[in-house]
Amino acid sequence: MFGHAFPVNEEGQNDADAELRQRESLRFLPGARLTGCRGTLGNFKLRLESGEEILEETAGAVVLACEMRSVPLFASYGLSGARNAISLSRLEEMLTSQKSEENGASLLGRAEQIAFLSGFAREGDPVSQRRILNSLRALDEQGYRTSIYTRDLKVADDGLVELAKTDRQLGTIFFKLDECPDISPDGGEIRHNDPVLEREVRIHPDLIVLEERFLPGPENERLARILNITTNEDGFLQDENIHRLPVRTNRMGVFAVGAARGIMTPGQTRSDAANAALALQEEFQSLQRNLFGTRAFIDEDKCCVCLTCYRLCPHGAISLEQRPVISSLACQGCGLCASQCPQEAISVLDSRLEDIGHSGSERIHAPKNAGQPPRIVAYCCRNSAYEAGMAAYAFNRDLPSGLIVVDVPCAGTINRDMILSSLKKGADGLLILGCHFGACKSTWGNAFACHQSDRLGSILEEVGLSRERIRFRTLAENMDAEFSAFTREMEESLVHLGRNPLA
Ligand code: SF4
Ligand code: SF4
Repeated sequence: MFGHAFPVNEEGQNDADAELRQRESLRFLPGARLTGCRGTLGNFKLRLESGEEILEETAGAVVLACEMRSVPLFASYGLSGARNAISLSRLEEMLTSQKSEENGASLLGRAEQIAFLSGFAREGDPVSQRRILNSLRALDEQGYRTSIYTRDLKVADDGLVELAKTDRQLGTIFFKLDECPDISPDGGEIRHNDPVLEREVRIHPDLIVLEERFLPGPENERLARILNITTNEDGFLQDENIHRLPVRTNRMGVFAVGAARGIMTPGQTRSDAANAALALQEEFQSLQRNLFGTRAFIDEDKCCVCLTCYRLCPHGAISLEQRPVISSLACQGCGLCASQCPQEAISVLDSRLEDIGHSGSERIHAPKNAGQPPRIVAYCCRNSAYEAGMAAYAFNRDLPSGLIVVDVPCAGTINRDMILSSLKKGADGLLILGCHFGACKSTWGNAFACHQSDRLGSILEEVGLSRERIRFRTLAENMDAEFSAFTREMEESLVHLGRNPLA
């Protein structure tokens, strides 16, 4: 896309293409569509349709590199009926075809004054900025009078500051305004009160060039469904979770690069490609480690094939072979499947905790004594809150003396039995501490934990206990001060509530 803004060395590109096509390890399937995907990292079974032909392929990993689309924003600027308004893409087409035409100026007609509008209908971005600045330079060099109205100039990409300076030197006038100027519906006049000149400025452009909005590729929704991966709110193929950056998706072995995951320049896309190669290597190495690490197992005799685990696994580690099968290689041991299985058919083996269900409760065996401090079990996600807790101890933060810290693979692992068992064995209160929303490594593990805590609070109320005895909080790994504050708050509340009568 945007060949005018991001020219490629065509000769070099052709050589690279030819070289790639000769590699025996690569197969090109132009026009093929992905229509099915089973399996996990290291062993994906892909179904592809190419015309009438149906292909079954096996692949170790999947890298998504789809393009994005751009749509003009005439309506947002009230210029749907203006005959002199064109989209940035249209201008780029004109500039590109000018180069190949004898009579270069024919398409731009007799336009003398050309105005650009950018950043008022949507947030700016470096890709659009480069396209605009390159177009301005091309027009300036041909002697057009150019101006740009913009709210923000996003120049955070290589060479954009210099490009903007060159455009200024060549004659472009930059109006940086907080609000969109007044534009007559026929596009004949643009008027604004200039904060620098301290007077009204009117121009009468022959041509108005409008910014565009980027949309994800038209296939994204379908691909996300087939690959069972989450998208961001705009529909790009990577959700907004810090654990996924730069190129991972929520499914191990599926990567998204460039415009597949957001608005990217070609330079960023090339970095993404390199990052995908690195991430792939890392994941294949982790496969080897996983052979001896954390895993979940299904007891087939108990499983009623309700498929809750299959739908829920945030890492795409469960496939369907008539019944759910957990890939011991792709499983991250988060335990979400086990906590939600209605048949209690799944167990998670963990290298650090033999059985996370009882590790907290087994350490609560002190006899009830009114003089002792309240006993608090804090189930801490080891991706965030556990680190915060360890930092709180390391920095000698003020912590309750009756606090028992239990690290769990994900806060979403906690289920009713674990909580009730802890209460029965003597805990006065329970804290479930997970990652912030949107930053959970298991995508929705913290949301489950929050919901679970709420439900368990209601159960406690039903048996005559205060729901204050169980709380869910979110933390980042560096929030040791907050860890101290949450646990102290809980302690104060438990002092007020008194000992747990169930213990
Ligand atoms: S959630 Fe449990 S019962 Fe349902 S399919 Fe998975 S293992 Fe079987
Ligand atoms: S433990 Fe987590 S990653 Fe493993 S199968 Fe269950 S939900 Fe998926």
